[in-house]
Amino acid sequence: MGTAPERPRDAVVVVGGGLAGVLVALALIRRGLAVTLVAPADEPAACPGSATSLSYGAMLGFGARRHWRHLEACHGPMGFAPRGLVLHSWGGWLDQLPPAALALLSAPLPVGQVDSARFAAALPGVLAAAGVNQLDARVLNLQPRPGGGWILRLAGLDPSPSASLESSRVVLAAGAFCRSLWPALTPNLRHSWAGALIVTDLADGNPWLEQVRSGRVVQPRAWRRPALEARSAALTQEAWIVDAGLAPWGSGALLGQITLVPAGPAGLEPPDPAQMEQRLRQGLARLDPALARLDGDYRQVPVAFCADGRPLVGPVAAAPGLWSFAGFSGPFGTAPALAEQLAADLAAA
Ligand SMILES: Cc1cc2nc3c(=O)[nH]c(=O)nc-3n(C[C@H](O)[C@H](O)[C@H](O)COP(=O)(O)OP(=O)(O)OC[C@H]3O[C@@H](n4cnc5c(N)ncnc54)[C@H](O)[C@@H]3O)c2cc1C
Repeated sequence: MGTAPERPRDAVVVVGGGLAGVLVALALIRRGLAVTLVAPADEPAACPGSATSLSYGAMLGFGARRHWRHLEACHGPMGFAPRGLVLHSWGGWLDQLPPAALALLSAPLPVGQVDSARFAAALPGVLAAAGVNQLDARVLNLQPRPGGGWILRLAGLDPSPSASLESSRVVLAAGAFCRSLWPALTPNLRHSWAGALIVTDLADGNPWLEQVRSGRVVQPRAWRRPALEARSAALTQEAWIVDAGLAPWGSGALLGQITLVPAGPAGLEPPDPAQMEQRLRQGLARLDPALARLDGDYRQVPVAFCADGRPLVGPVAAAPGLWSFAGFSGPFGTAPALAEQLAADLAAA
């Protein structure tokens, strides 16, 4: 008696082309699975949908740096570089030290950065070389397919204005937009709005910008954002904080970051950018008034996070074949290993 011929397995569909979608697509490809990645190729500058596009991309730890070196060895340059770090706001007399002296305090820390401008520029080539099928489209909705699997309705496919895609396995990696695609995701998955200034002219004479020019990331010693995210479920009105920092970004710098967490399970309406920029500049002024006066282009993006700090990595409850990969904190350090884990579980499932 012969065995039934093996059914060719369809491509895993990954929804989202930010850090999460890219890492999981590459991890699946390395396991020999066919992958189709669906994401709009061009985000409108006025309303970019990708947190990755505005990220400092910083990470701490030898393990994180090893992962990025390995990724680049497999797939080519993706914007990673070992970096120096300048921590500010220690309190007391240390705050009188100039940035160059503060840099010495943090010199032993193993910091790395994926420059998100270089990452975005490298991606189309990296994904194509790896064999990821890239679809320039937005998923409008996904529905269970009779008999198992999923049907994704797409918008933006050229030349057809709308189309659909089917697969037995779909990974939701659409950051803050995951919930709009699958509302039953745990309420733990929330979003904030993060804003930063893009500065292209790193003028001489400012000691903080000099640190960025030397390839260092500048950050507060203690971030306020994680505490704000942790109390997000209890907020009765929106709350915001500024963690003043700078990071190399292409040939310029990112100056941030303001984080606003909406109260309740709000939709994705952006906060008033003029007010957000003003608040950000006030926060930067506390570090150095000259930074607050720099010419820069203010941008803001929605960022997914999980209120309990545990990202959604794995199968979605009561939705066979649907997986999630979203809601990270510090994903440039943590997501490469988590993507490997998800790819291994999905390949074995
Ligand atoms: C200013 C700033 C600084 C940061 N600094 C750091 C840092 O130093 N270190 C760190 O680890 N993290 C940092 N972060 C956080 C980090 O950048 C994000 O958590 C991470 O980039 C999120 O990646 P993601 O792929 O999950 O989401 P996103 O980057 O938001 O990607 C979501 C993707 O899904 C796509 N999408 C959305 N809806 C659909 C749809 N319907 N159909 C198809 N595609 C869709 C979008 O177009 C986008 O491509 C920072 C973030 C900001 C904003």
